[in-house]
Amino acid sequence: MTVEQKMTGEKVGYHFSITLESAIEVLNRALESDKSAISKLFLGKGVKCNEELAEDETIQIGRFVEDGKTYNRIRPLGLINGMFGISPETGFGPLAMVCQIGCSSCGWKASEVEHDEFENCPKCEAKLGAVEIIRFEPTKDEFMYGERL
Ligand SMILES: [Zn+2]
Repeated sequence: MTVEQKMTGEKVGYHFSITLESAIEVLNRALESDKSAISKLFLGKGVKCNEELAEDETIQIGRFVEDGKTYNRIRPLGLINGMFGISPETGFGPLAMVCQIGCSSCGWKASEVEHDEFENCPKCEAKLGAVEIIRFEPTKDEFMYGERL
């Protein structure tokens, strides 16, 4: 759809007070249109960021280790969750991703219910991780693969 077509469509106009539900609707629509692209965008390594951003009151960053040194990284979910705030009990934002857990080396996939990202692949012993987003949804009490503050 071109910009001109979008400007005459049903959803034309700014939404200055978006809700969690409307954000989830847009993210799931993007996921439905191109699961591979959205999964790569949200599950990728992200971008290294400085301490000032890491110390932001609501934006969530991840930490990763490279060559024995720990870095902060920003990814889309942490930034979007920063718009909605964090739970005082858990430190999580209200927007979560439900992910397919699998092996990026050999392609093995766990069933949605029995995943454990800290186990190794039963076929090739590589470390398992989130390989694809299944859906975006509101955060539940348990860990849902949202990035923690
Ligand atoms: Zn494997």
